[in-house]
Amino acid sequence: MDHKARLKKLLEGNWRVASVNGTNPPAPWDPETMLAGQEPFAAVLGCSDSRVPPEQLFDQGPGKIFVVRVAGNIAGKSEIGSLEYAVSHLHVPLLMVLGHDDCGAVKAAMQSEATGAAGDLIEHVRLAVAHVLVKEGAFHHILDEAIRDNVLTTLRDLEVRSDLIRGAVEKGDLALVGAMFSFDSGLISVLEVRSRGGLASL
Ligand SMILES: [Zn+2]
Repeated sequence: MDHKARLKKLLEGNWRVASVNGTNPPAPWDPETMLAGQEPFAAVLGCSDSRVPPEQLFDQGPGKIFVVRVAGNIAGKSEIGSLEYAVSHLHVPLLMVLGHDDCGAVKAAMQSEATGAAGDLIEHVRLAVAHVLVKEGAFHHILDEAIRDNVLTTLRDLEVRSDLIRGAVEKGDLALVGAMFSFDSGLISVLEVRSRGGLASL
């Protein structure tokens, strides 16, 4: 299966969920398969928001997707460390950063609401979307743009901050995909693909 086929598999699963409520409900637990090890075909860095569980959005059961979730889908040290494990040890060939509509972390960053440890996280998002914040316009339009920018910033952060991830992309072993989930449609749309050969290879 190549990068294009893996992305297609994810998006087709999402289409099943959005159109017919999915066809892959959790299978009976199979200890033998689980104990044999994991070989996920994709990794997803998504938001902790309770409405966006990647396995369910993509209609995938246990063992299929390596998931890292953090408010605002940022790429801090812990997130990058987890994803580096997925790339170097599990040889995950597709890594998706998944943002979503109505993201509370991005909203908080636009309104400078949080303090303490949450403040550090929100500051991370605020820096990612800083240039959107100076724009004039309706809050929801600016919010949508900030959410997209936050996804694309995380995508770039993964390559800039991780030699391992950047190296895997350069070698053609890994494709990075930025995507957005819409509550309205239940569908995920691709914003950007970063892989050797760019979109042409997908
Ligand atoms: Zn969110």
